[in-house]
Amino acid sequence: MAGKHKNRCSFCGRSEDEVALMLTGLNGFICDECVRQAEHIVSESLGSEVRLKKDNATGIDMTDIPKPRDIKAFLDQYVIGQDSAKRYLSVAVYNHYKRLAQHRDDEVEIEKSNIIMVGATGTGKTLLARTIAKLLNVPFTIVDATIFTEAGYVGEDVESILTRLLQVADYDVPATERGIVFIDEIDKIARKQDNPSITRDVSGEGVQQGLLKLLEGSIVNVPPKGGRKHPDQDYIHVDTRNILFICGGAFDGIERKIAQRLNTHVVGYDSVQNQQRIDTKDLMKYIVPQDLKSFGLIPEIIGRLPVLTYLNPLDREALHRILTEPKNSLVKQQIKLFEMDGIKLTFEEEALDYIVDKAMEYKLGARGLRSIMETIMIEAQFNAPSDQVKTLTITRQYAEQQIRKSEKMKE
Ligand code: ADP
Repeated sequence: MAGKHKNRCSFCGRSEDEVALMLTGLNGFICDECVRQAEHIVSESLGSEVRLKKDNATGIDMTDIPKPRDIKAFLDQYVIGQDSAKRYLSVAVYNHYKRLAQHRDDEVEIEKSNIIMVGATGTGKTLLARTIAKLLNVPFTIVDATIFTEAGYVGEDVESILTRLLQVADYDVPATERGIVFIDEIDKIARKQDNPSITRDVSGEGVQQGLLKLLEGSIVNVPPKGGRKHPDQDYIHVDTRNILFICGGAFDGIERKIAQRLNTHVVGYDSVQNQQRIDTKDLMKYIVPQDLKSFGLIPEIIGRLPVLTYLNPLDREALHRILTEPKNSLVKQQIKLFEMDGIKLTFEEEALDYIVDKAMEYKLGARGLRSIMETIMIEAQFNAPSDQVKTLTITRQYAEQQIRKSEKMKE
């Protein structure tokens, strides 16, 4: 007697026993092997076409996208101050999504709105970019512009920026093509003088040129594992047209350039009036693209970063607020850590003032706060869980003592 009737793949003819998985269709079957092969053939021959179609139907519903004011309100929960940067970012991100939602055949094509944020170290540039990414739930990566050098020199090729984005997106190309890249320290690839270089400028202009291609939107060959490109490598093609680039940099000394420009501008007959209006303590707010050019960014790059905004240096009040107010402020985090041991932790106001004083002294913006806090809390964190304490109050005296101790240890 014949055995049980076996289903056979309608494409290769193999039976159920010979394959790992058999899918059933209306009038036939297909095995896992053939599915894989079919997928390969489809993506080989239709690859970019299929992707374009998908792009057309981005499936983005404008009602799902938070409005600029909502975006800013979200940022407010984590980032203190920096109102101007928040507004620009919120609008730029919102417009970015409008672009994604737009139909390809629309006559008015909305242009990409890459962003550049200028502000001293530790003022919240990376934090802003990270927080935005959290809200939008798109692949996000941070890269440091200093790791790139022109092709032919030691260092990574600019395309490896996209490798990182691909990795974050689990190599899902359509998701990658909608991601956000934060390029930090963009000022470090500035040209050294304000005139086009005659010889090759290893650190600056070449990298800017490379970056340009990514910023303006093109299909880029990305090495899947990053690093340097080499000829016999397979590349993943990534279209950067819809990737949002946010650049940040401290642009040390740019205030001087701004001041110079403002001075030359106010020589006219209404100079006295103008001079009175200039707030010399806060020159950053007068920044215009021309200042970036004086600093050494090439005009093409500046043109591709049309949204220019700045971050204020953090004063005492801002540092104090950063310590206590954000949803995950350092004080709240410490309280949580101790709460998990059943200990009620409090900070006296004077202790917080002291932490702020120290941070001002270190001149690292809010970046200094964290390490100061850790230094002050290390001993308590070490001992309190074993001691039978139920409450702990950090006084100024205790904070000073801990800092002094650590400074002595470093000597
Ligand atoms: P940078 O401007 O150098 O990119 P970051 O965003 O990395 O600075 O800031 C370093 C750390 O300082 C952040 O992780 C954050 O904890 C804190 N910080 C900086 N600026 C702010 C701010 N405006 N509001 C809240 N926290 C801030």
